[in-house]
Amino acid sequence: MKKGLLLCVCQGTCPSFQKMNIFEVGNAIRREGIVDFIAIHPQLCADDGDVFLSTLTQNNREIDKLYVAGCAPIMQQKMFRDAFERAKFDKTKHFGVDIRNMSTEEAVNAIKKLIEEN
Ligand code: SF4
Repeated sequence: MKKGLLLCVCQGTCPSFQKMNIFEVGNAIRREGIVDFIAIHPQLCADDGDVFLSTLTQNNREIDKLYVAGCAPIMQQKMFRDAFERAKFDKTKHFGVDIRNMSTEEAVNAIKKLIEEN
């Protein structure tokens, strides 16, 4: 079973993500080797984000834990609910962390903390 991390950045234009280098955030986590895959998506809560999520998680695939760094976890839960239900993905395997307004280092640390605790 695999652990994956998705980084979501509000199209890359939202001021909340301007303090960090999202590519370096992903690279730092890759270098740690604490997840099996990483992807950056521009807008997971858009229609094509729904398609991305439901395709990725279809019937739970091999995904044991899906970490999503972006907006507030409670917002993620609401916005991803339909996609997970469509895919029959167990939503308790989704773990969100809010990285808005963080620097690269702060975002990396917040993601590492999420992964360590879940
Ligand atoms: S899921 Fe959250 S972080 Fe991603 S685009 Fe939507 S509001 Fe922004």
